[in-house]
Amino acid sequence: MLDLNIITEADIALPTQPVELRHFINGTWVDSADGAVSERVSPSHGVVVSRAAKGGAAEAEAAILAARTAFDDGRWSRISGKDRAAVLLKVADLIEHHTERLAILETLESGKPISQSRGEVGGAADLWRYAASLARSIHGDSHNTLGPDMVAMVLKEPIGVVSIITPWNFPFWILSQKLPFALAAGCTCVVKPSEMTPATTALLADLLVEAGLPAGVCNIVLGYGLPVGSLMTSHKAVDMISFTGSTAVGKKISEIAAGTLKKVALELGGKNAQVIFPDADLEDAADAVAFGVHFNVGQCCNSSSRIIVHEDIAEAFTARVVDLSRKVAYGNPLNPKTQVGAIVTAEHQAKIDGYVQGAVAEGADIRLGGAALTVAGVGAQFYQPTIVTGLRPDMAIVQEEVFGPVLSVLTFRTLEEAIALANDSVYGLSAGVWSNDIHTCLAFAREVQAGTIWTNTWMDGFPEVAFGGMKQSGQGREIGRYGFEEFLEVKSVVMRVGGGSRGKWVSEG
Ligand code: NDP
Repeated sequence: MLDLNIITEADIALPTQPVELRHFINGTWVDSADGAVSERVSPSHGVVVSRAAKGGAAEAEAAILAARTAFDDGRWSRISGKDRAAVLLKVADLIEHHTERLAILETLESGKPISQSRGEVGGAADLWRYAASLARSIHGDSHNTLGPDMVAMVLKEPIGVVSIITPWNFPFWILSQKLPFALAAGCTCVVKPSEMTPATTALLADLLVEAGLPAGVCNIVLGYGLPVGSLMTSHKAVDMISFTGSTAVGKKISEIAAGTLKKVALELGGKNAQVIFPDADLEDAADAVAFGVHFNVGQCCNSSSRIIVHEDIAEAFTARVVDLSRKVAYGNPLNPKTQVGAIVTAEHQAKIDGYVQGAVAEGADIRLGGAALTVAGVGAQFYQPTIVTGLRPDMAIVQEEVFGPVLSVLTFRTLEEAIALANDSVYGLSAGVWSNDIHTCLAFAREVQAGTIWTNTWMDGFPEVAFGGMKQSGQGREIGRYGFEEFLEVKSVVMRVGGGSRGKWVSEG
């Protein structure tokens, strides 16, 4: 019998009926023209949580047209940064006011624990607040050294209409890494959430209206990648796509967007390593490894799904991570004590298991877990905390994004070897190093190809600090000033001043 910390009881009652969701286009809530709907069944409790309008080409077209018109007539793109900031700050307050409702829906649609959903919604409000501060600080450059009769300005302008496509793993958080920054820049938007987790995105429309966002500035279309997301990518009236999701779909989006040469910002997968040196605070490191792999049941682009441990401490360190992993509270997402909830779909649960069984067939050792998990009275769509050793670096479980609570353990002898193993991936999203030697940490940070390096910590993030990936983890950055700048276009204005002539190019005599 596997000795795990399983929580079965709920602290919050299940809803008696699903929430009904509609598209939000040009300031109006609408059903699909053909009346199509899709239902989301909670991965943890098996009840229908939401019934959403299922959009098609007609809804996507209408939303894109509304965003284009709203951008071109300047109702948002040409108002002051102060006025834009005022709206974004109101949205932040309203998100905070409605945290509980949003968090419960996020938990029921995604399967994640309620304490985490509350944290994500609260954190999202802070992203809106930070974006509001940026709305008032957009500025370009001026050039006053071009000679007596020349002066030039480099202006920053909103890029235009932005398509925002988000995944199911952090629906409201990822939306808030994009939308308030695009709005702060003066862009107008068309948003499509994953069809599995549409509720919090759809309900945001109420808050945008209450905060005073003009009609047409943010449009929300519910539906699938095909045809909605695909049209949002190919449409000539769209200027930029901001996408978070799988690397496979990210590549498709890049290809389709090339047809109109629109700007593409991609936040994709990762195979993120934490490297542990013997001189580190090993208790802190073990706790961070447990957090890094089990958080959001591993369905996280930043999951630290592999660790690279110095040979001298590998056995003891792995044993400690096994010990801590048994104590992580898996189970009913509607209990605030639960730390890890359900897997998003049964298909994804089978995919996770496929990676584990594949590794076993190739000779790997399962140190903990390694199978699906049923939580009494809740459901069977869970997966045991799983730790795998005896691996070769080329195995699929080490190279590919498992997106589950599955930790692969590798070992190293020298700093150079650790860096080479950390870089042995098509991905480059994040990486971590644990050592009390600043030279080791710095050498690691400088040599490892990843958009974020954590030293003696894991997954700390701030609205001020840019986030994004290298290699096949994406392109462009989100949040922080760099993320904000993605939504701005640069225009140079070169002026002859003082009434002088530029001199004639054509000789007439
Ligand atoms: P996808 O990349 O398939 O989906 C992400 C978003 O893109 C969804 O809104 C989806 O819509 C939309 N989409 C799908 N196809 C297209 C298309 N052709 N054009 C435009 N938009 C499209 O991720 P999944 O949700 O299917 O997850 C699959 C895998 O992706 C996971 O197992 C994981 O490995 C990875 N992933 C990575 C994430 C990250 O944060 N880096 C987040 C989520 C997933 P819809 O699904 O509604 O059809």
